[in-house]
Amino acid sequence: MPIAYSDYTSRLERLLEICKNLSSNLELEPLLHSIIESAAELTYSESSSILVLDEEKNFLKFLAAPWYMMESLKTINVPLDRSVAGWVFTNGQPMAIQHAEKDERIFRLVDKQLTDSTTSILAVPLVSKGEVIGVMECINKSNNAQYTEEDVTIVETLAAQAAVAIQNNWLLDETQTAYEKMMQLDRMKSDFMAIVSHELRTPLGLVLGHSSLLMDTVGEDQKQDLMVIASSANRMKEIIEQFSDSDTLEHDLAELRRQRLSVSALVKEIVDSFREMAEIRKISVILELPGSDMVVEGDMDKIGIALRNLIQNALTFTNEGGKVKVKGEVVPGYVKITVMDNGIGIPPEELGKIFTRFYQVEKHLTRKHGGVGLGLSIAKEMVELHGGTISVESVEGMGSRFSFRLPSSAAQASAAQRVFQTGPLAGKVPAQPAKPVTGTLGKPPALPLTGSLKPRPVNPADSTPEEMK
Ligand code: ADP
Repeated sequence: MPIAYSDYTSRLERLLEICKNLSSNLELEPLLHSIIESAAELTYSESSSILVLDEEKNFLKFLAAPWYMMESLKTINVPLDRSVAGWVFTNGQPMAIQHAEKDERIFRLVDKQLTDSTTSILAVPLVSKGEVIGVMECINKSNNAQYTEEDVTIVETLAAQAAVAIQNNWLLDETQTAYEKMMQLDRMKSDFMAIVSHELRTPLGLVLGHSSLLMDTVGEDQKQDLMVIASSANRMKEIIEQFSDSDTLEHDLAELRRQRLSVSALVKEIVDSFREMAEIRKISVILELPGSDMVVEGDMDKIGIALRNLIQNALTFTNEGGKVKVKGEVVPGYVKITVMDNGIGIPPEELGKIFTRFYQVEKHLTRKHGGVGLGLSIAKEMVELHGGTISVESVEGMGSRFSFRLPSSAAQASAAQRVFQTGPLAGKVPAQPAKPVTGTLGKPPALPLTGSLKPRPVNPADSTPEEMK
């Protein structure tokens, strides 16, 4: 028995109430059922249904209808050129037919399937973001009454709700599919990296072992060649190690083995290990450490990897005759390490991207320098694992300055993590926004920083021309 509304206003009040309730329903199927039931109720119709374009885009399919009809309707393909729904879909306009019994525009297969007869019909387009995605129909107004403009307004309002819900559901499906595809690719990439790293380790170990054995038995001429072989094999070993570090970090498998350690001693040892390389490249390396020992509770290997990557980059991107300076400082609660160079610098628009995995400023295949674009992302992750932050300042053509801060104690680290914690990054601290580009390494201009890193004020005393001396 249909509900009798006293006037249009009371129907609109009911419509408003229905729309409010609809927004609380997140599942598509029950939501569409509520919508068609409400449309039938508010327009005094026998039933209502929703049709959408099928995947091949050549006819319409029923997406929602009263449950007792759905079984018969779901196999029907409603043609776009010989049906009321098809006309409404194609023209994006509503259509009402009052005496539909003999009207040729009605697609009769539906009546046949339902062993019923369409006596009147109102159909409106389902529009989402300006695009018609389907049609909503109301059938057989009670007492042979005619569909009115008011009915059209009511059904259009409900159709708009249905359109948004359907579109959102499609988007959700697409996102889900894309996500699954991405996860599958990610698994393949990880497997590939693991296999390549594993398979290359053994032959590389043999190359390194045998070249070191041969070194003692060959003459001076061959020694040079052997050194090239050994240093190339070492470079390959470093790349393989970066692959596996990066994969471990990406999958949150990295464990921090904290111990009290002297960062001063670690920095000195690492800087010294680069002296030979710096000498070959005719780059002078300056080390500046504070008078008192810099001590942190941290993981020596991981801090070492971060620092090595920064120094390796500083030497790689600085020309012959240039300078690289490594400076250690104790700031309250933290130890700060800075690696600066007067090399080629980094364009401001690249600064926000260089910490991304595999990102390189020059295109990989055309660039002069080696590397695979993992060094900085690994350094950042290693520092963040400690609850520390890393930042960069650079002026193109003049040099770069990378700094990282490590909390002195585990307690300080977890306090820092609590401060920075925003949501699901459990156990991690987001990278501190970089400072704006400033005139480090001897020249004063302060350039605006573009890219995703947010500028913060710079203390001019931080970057004096004296720094590189
Ligand atoms: P890669 O191993 O290829 O050097 P990184 O992640 O270490 O990868 O660095 C990413 C990119 O950032 C580098 O390819 C380089 O373009 C730029 N970069 C890093 N450090 C410096 C630096 N000290 N000076 C100039 N450019 C740098």
